[in-house]
Amino acid sequence: MDIIITNRVQVNNRRKTKVKVPSAKTADPLKGKSEKHYLDSYSNGETEEEPPEEPPSRSITFSNLSNLEEEPPGKTVIGRYRLFDDISDKFWNDWKWQFQNRITSINQLGQFIPLSSEEKAQLQLVVRRYPLSITPYYLSLINPDDPDDPIRKQSVPSVLEMTMNTIGLEDPLAEKEDSVVPGLVHRYPDRALMVLTDICPMLCRHCTRKREWRNGGWVRTEGEMEAMLDYLRRNEVIRDVIISGGDPLTLSTSRLESIISRVREIGHIEIIRIGTRFPAVLPQRIDNELCAMLSRYGPIWLNTHFNHPREITPEAEEACDRLLRSGIPVNNQSVLLRGVNDNVETMLKLCQGLLRIKVRPYYLFQCDEVQGTEHLRTPVDVGLKIIEGMRGHTSGLAVPNFVIDLPQGGGKVPIQPDYLLRHNQDELVLRNYEGKVFHYRNPDSNECRGEAVAPASGIVDRFLVVA
Ligand code: SF4
Repeated sequence: MDIIITNRVQVNNRRKTKVKVPSAKTADPLKGKSEKHYLDSYSNGETEEEPPEEPPSRSITFSNLSNLEEEPPGKTVIGRYRLFDDISDKFWNDWKWQFQNRITSINQLGQFIPLSSEEKAQLQLVVRRYPLSITPYYLSLINPDDPDDPIRKQSVPSVLEMTMNTIGLEDPLAEKEDSVVPGLVHRYPDRALMVLTDICPMLCRHCTRKREWRNGGWVRTEGEMEAMLDYLRRNEVIRDVIISGGDPLTLSTSRLESIISRVREIGHIEIIRIGTRFPAVLPQRIDNELCAMLSRYGPIWLNTHFNHPREITPEAEEACDRLLRSGIPVNNQSVLLRGVNDNVETMLKLCQGLLRIKVRPYYLFQCDEVQGTEHLRTPVDVGLKIIEGMRGHTSGLAVPNFVIDLPQGGGKVPIQPDYLLRHNQDELVLRNYEGKVFHYRNPDSNECRGEAVAPASGIVDRFLVVA
């Protein structure tokens, strides 16, 4: 792990003097790599032919940042022009440039966000265990003057990751135990999860797979990929395949296509789902080439991960729009996080903002009990109160399912505020979102089954027979 961190730091230090954009020759830098060290192939660009552009030296100021919170979602003028004003549109809109220039060391981070020497020293220790990776795009959404900024909390390491590290488990969902072949998790009868890589453009501080970060990054080999596909071919009960990671969209479009096309060839697989946080942390990745490729292998559903309304930027909206126009429905899976979205107002803004960009708020996950994330977890009651505060106060479409993913692979369980006060065979007593109490007649179960109910006279009353 340390070697990889060192490499990243070296690579990104190089960025300060020279920015290289992958050329067509290196468009698929992962292809042919066995497992590891492809991060460097993204980063060092040694075989590149295009003349690198030299960004002018930057002067970073932290002024004019105090009004970020007030800006309405979807209209936020991102901090690109404050922090990256020397970067041309060509680079900024190139997802490979963004990926290559991720902020991966505390010293780099200190150029953008004020950090005291003490903080720097503490965070250097944190990233040895839990590395750091933030795209320039996502960094530009942070208000560097606010230590409690919700975008910062998701991306910038905290010393609490180490001081509270004894709480929780490395793999609370027991994902390793459900792997049938390396990379393929088959927990539910009709669904399977393909984990193609452990690389992500950003390392979210609340990640359930934080344990994988120390492995330094890998992509499944062609042999491993074939073994997964072979299992899928042989198990005809599987009708739904989730392609995830890490983030599978870190693979090049051509590499992804070679995998997705082979999954699509399997007759009994009806649905392909892709789990990715790119629309929120590096929306430039959702380009026309990717969308055109995905549109060839539908039905494909894409699940993404927005946690805060300030993530719904014009760039994110465009990315989701491109997917939708390509026939890819987009659902959102938020994680409930302390200091990020743990109140009704923020979740309302987030979910209503998602609906505005035609993304369905699907799940709100209780943050898993993962080591190094305890400081971001909230009591379950907080989630229940949020759902209670949303239900009835906005369209039902905007209300996600609040879900706990049970430990030891118990699966997802929806948790709802209790609207059913009591019930018996004849009646239910319910409260509505305003707390008013209502009585609801419970239909007779015999009528429901279509059985004739004979009145006392013995004559069947046809009006009681329900077809
Ligand atoms: S994108 Fe998902 S898998 Fe990757 S670090 Fe974030 S939460 Fe973890």
